Amino acid sequence: MAGAMGGALDVVVVGAGLSGLIAARRLIEQGQRVRVLEARPRVGGRMVSQTLSDGSVVDLGGQWGGHTHHRFAALLQELGLSCYPSYYAGDGIFCWQGKCIKAPLAERFENSLVFFEPGALDLDAKELEATRALQQAFTALVAQINPRQPWLTPDAERLDRLTVSAWATQQTNLPLAHLPLAWLCRVGGSGGFEPWEASILHLAWTQAVAPQTETPEAWLVQGGAGAVSLLLAADLRARSPGALVLEAPVLAIQQNEAIATVIAEGLEPLQARAVILAVPPPQRQAIRFEPPLPPAHQALLQRTAMGGMTKILTRYSKPFWREQGLNGLGTGKQPWLDLTADSGPPGEQPAVLASFVAGERAITMAALPEAERRALILKDLVRYWGLRRRQPPRSGGTSLEWRILDRRCLHQLSSTRQLDQPCPPGCRHRGWPGSRQPWAGVLGRYRGLPALAWLFRRRHRGRGASRINRCPTPEPMKDRPYIHGTSRREQARLIDQAELLSELLAANLDYQAGDQILEIGCGVGAVLGQIGKNHPDAQLHGIDISPDQIEAARRHLSGLGLDQMELAVGDGAALPWEGSCMDRVRLVWVVEHLQEPLAVLREALRVLQPGGTIHITETDYSSLRVSPPDPAIEAMLSAFVAHFNRHGNAHAGPALGPWLEQTGFTAVHNTMVGIHHWCPSRRDAVDGFCSYLLGFIEPERSALFEAAPTPHAAALIETGLERFARLAEQPDGAISISAYQARGMKPADDQPG
Ligand SMILES: Cc1cc2nc3c(=O)[nH]c(=O)nc-3n(C[C@H](O)[C@H](O)[C@H](O)COP(=O)(O)OP(=O)(O)OC[C@H]3O[C@@H](n4cnc5c(N)ncnc54)[C@H](O)[C@@H]3O)c2cc1C
Repeated sequence: MAGAMGGALDVVVVGAGLSGLIAARRLIEQGQRVRVLEARPRVGGRMVSQTLSDGSVVDLGGQWGGHTHHRFAALLQELGLSCYPSYYAGDGIFCWQGKCIKAPLAERFENSLVFFEPGALDLDAKELEATRALQQAFTALVAQINPRQPWLTPDAERLDRLTVSAWATQQTNLPLAHLPLAWLCRVGGSGGFEPWEASILHLAWTQAVAPQTETPEAWLVQGGAGAVSLLLAADLRARSPGALVLEAPVLAIQQNEAIATVIAEGLEPLQARAVILAVPPPQRQAIRFEPPLPPAHQALLQRTAMGGMTKILTRYSKPFWREQGLNGLGTGKQPWLDLTADSGPPGEQPAVLASFVAGERAITMAALPEAERRALILKDLVRYWGLRRRQPPRSGGTSLEWRILDRRCLHQLSSTRQLDQPCPPGCRHRGWPGSRQPWAGVLGRYRGLPALAWLFRRRHRGRGASRINRCPTPEPMKDRPYIHGTSRREQARLIDQAELLSELLAANLDYQAGDQILEIGCGVGAVLGQIGKNHPDAQLHGIDISPDQIEAARRHLSGLGLDQMELAVGDGAALPWEGSCMDRVRLVWVVEHLQEPLAVLREALRVLQPGGTIHITETDYSSLRVSPPDPAIEAMLSAFVAHFNRHGNAHAGPALGPWLEQTGFTAVHNTMVGIHHWCPSRRDAVDGFCSYLLGFIEPERSALFEAAPTPHAAALIETGLERFARLAEQPDGAISISAYQARGMKPADDQPG
């Protein structure tokens, strides 16, 4: 193709921030001919370091990584860089109503009052209770958000019309209660805006896709995070001399059916098969597109505002706060500084506090003369840390050095609905945040290219890593008996799954009119709903251990007009029915989650009438195979199977025959059914099946990464997930898995045990 186009490049990347540099690196690894055009005289964009007078390095832009920044961690290793844990030992300072209180941090952000242990803050009990209640209401809202399609959240339109402030005021007027949400708006991972500027739906969405509970400020890069871009640029230049051009702002991009022409200041027009825009949306508006971008796309660009955030670095002769048992984390209500945090290494030097002024205050402050800004910042620092008294100027010098970085931060205030604008048909300009993978910043997550948003922070909803900076440990199994959880999203997935596999699930069910049919582990009623539709004269019963699922089952079945069936919350190993009252028992993808499957099968036998039958559908996840073989996908699947086995049994399918016989069932059959889809003729099925399986794996993403023995293994899993998602794009992509359909009968002359 490139040959047919003469000297055209494969890809032009616009922007040499972290996103653009990584995109170029991966493309060059694939043998593509790439040119990166950067407007500024330096690389790194919003991730940039500066060397101080004594040679130590501070980060003016992005610097922290968190427990779920697996790609960033893997990249550091690839580049030979190391990291150190953020300093959180000791107490922090919480300021409220003019008082600054020294207090311990909470173990988990979700149980905290903006990082702090609420009980230790000596605040009014009524206000604390209102704060907890509002946080709980917000957490419940976040749990309902569909990250990809937030507008499908129940009551989305109303929530999108309500600002964060208005929503909070509907619940309580107590000012303390409003603090945590206001903090998330201003300084949370995707902050920079005021609570009256964005909708509650938007804030909930940001926390659904990039939760503060994932502890995104857990570690820092030795020698400064800015080194990452410098090393990437050096490597790019070494691999492909001339591939990186600085001081070349892109002014226009023209495209026709075959090729894109990129016009940059001071360069001859460049032709390329594709262009990647690795610049934040507002900066894209400075580029002229011919033909113009579609109106919806332009509207999105126009409405995507960036938040305001100023980062201030103050450097001291030594970390005096540490000596006093303090950790440098200060927050609460101050005139200007929303947050201060220790961003120095474990030793004494450089002793640095990073502080943030956000939202309107950042905009107001940016307009002030520098001396005035310094005075205001210093006043707040003194309120937090008593700097003046404790930090006399060093002899022959000043006690601190200032570095202030004003940046429009990474936030969009657009309606969440607009995030789903797909890349326009035939469009070569990729780099639309949220076009496929939603993200709470404005940074590109490019389908098919490495995700770069918020320093590679993962998109999944984590389970609240502890603030303590050790490698996150998976939660103990007893706390997570059901691997997939019961979120709204998961509930919807179960219904989709039953729909997708309805033929398999209905096969060989010889149910008769009037049968009493019990489904054990009925979840949200997805399978019961299908049985009800196919066998309208049967009497249906369902039981599940989760009240949430039974509640969802009631809603789902009532929506299908099947309100007559009996639904119960209870344990499959202790069924509430006496005697032999059921004609049929059904279990679908339940046995794989059981710690003691035989206990449940024995109960099934007990409640069945003599001659009654049990039907079980299971699988063997180790039979999941793709073609062409791919080591990254295989690594991901192995990690998933290993993870599954820590919670249940990934190989339940082939075990069903022996288990049924051991329980006392007779006439046992267990049939293996292959599910196999391939490209090109069944491409949609391959895509659908991979999406379905990814939905199944999705809630466990973070656990897979956490269990990975090395960052490299985690990176391989990540690659595996991405390639799996794109299997249908392979000309010869194929997927197969074995399902098992087992059947047994209660002996006619047997007495239930
Ligand atoms: C003060 C601050 C603190 C932060 N702290 C953290 C943190 O602790 N942890 C974290 O994970 N993230 C943090 N971030 C966010 C992180 O820095 C960014 O997510 C990341 O650096 C964005 O990288 P990017 O390449 O997508 O965009 P950018 O870094 O914005 O890169 C875009 C590049 O495109 C160039 N460009 C723009 N228009 C054109 C044009 N027309 N032609 C050519 N080039 C163009 C720009 O000059 C720029 O170099 C912080 C950000 C800021 C500002």
